[in-house]
Amino acid sequence: MKTRHRRSPTERSDSQAEPTTLMRLVCVVCGGIVGCFAIVLATWSNQSAPLQIVHAADPVSGAAAMPTDPTQPDLTQSPTQPPTDPAVGANPALAGRVADEDLPKTNAEWRKRLSPEQFDVARKKGTERAFTGKYWDTTTPGTYRCICCGEPLFKSNEKFESGCGWPSFSSPIDGVKGTTVAEHEDVSHFMRRTEVTCRRCGAHLGHVFNDGPPPTGLRYCINSASIVLDKK
Ligand SMILES: [Zn+2]
Repeated sequence: MKTRHRRSPTERSDSQAEPTTLMRLVCVVCGGIVGCFAIVLATWSNQSAPLQIVHAADPVSGAAAMPTDPTQPDLTQSPTQPPTDPAVGANPALAGRVADEDLPKTNAEWRKRLSPEQFDVARKKGTERAFTGKYWDTTTPGTYRCICCGEPLFKSNEKFESGCGWPSFSSPIDGVKGTTVAEHEDVSHFMRRTEVTCRRCGAHLGHVFNDGPPPTGLRYCINSASIVLDKK
């Protein structure tokens, strides 16, 4: 006759008797490409102990995983990456209005600050392809500044959907009689147009046409590459 051992309510099971139980879970957040994984270590013998999440440094090389100390920075996390395009990262106009004495004097200096497309459009009077620029369909409120010198040029409340594929404004920031943009006759490409430039630094912005909405009736057709939006 078999005798079954009956556990008393106070007796622990074998697994409960172990001081710790390890649960290993592959991290679904960061385990996809580089193979980094997380181990969740739960100490069930002490229910009041918090869960510890440990990131293995290199599962390929087998480097030992060290528990993270919440009071110390997690050195296994990648540091914030700098901008990948050094030309854009070196442009102070992205941060605000550039002081007069800090404006470049030569194309070589401009080329160091601008991306190749920004340089071609803003300093060499190029034109970005329609419907490809950063702001052609942007409705975000804010102020558009010159990509070269940082001067405020256009406000988002004067931007309208023209259907032309470029950012379109009914007026510069200080009005059609203002001084922030300059106009020049442009007879290139077998057309007679009115070019618009930044009066302060001479950056080519685009052209202005007489087919805009009231009250100005104007359409300032501006290249996205020549401006940067400061969101409100
Ligand atoms: Zn400018």
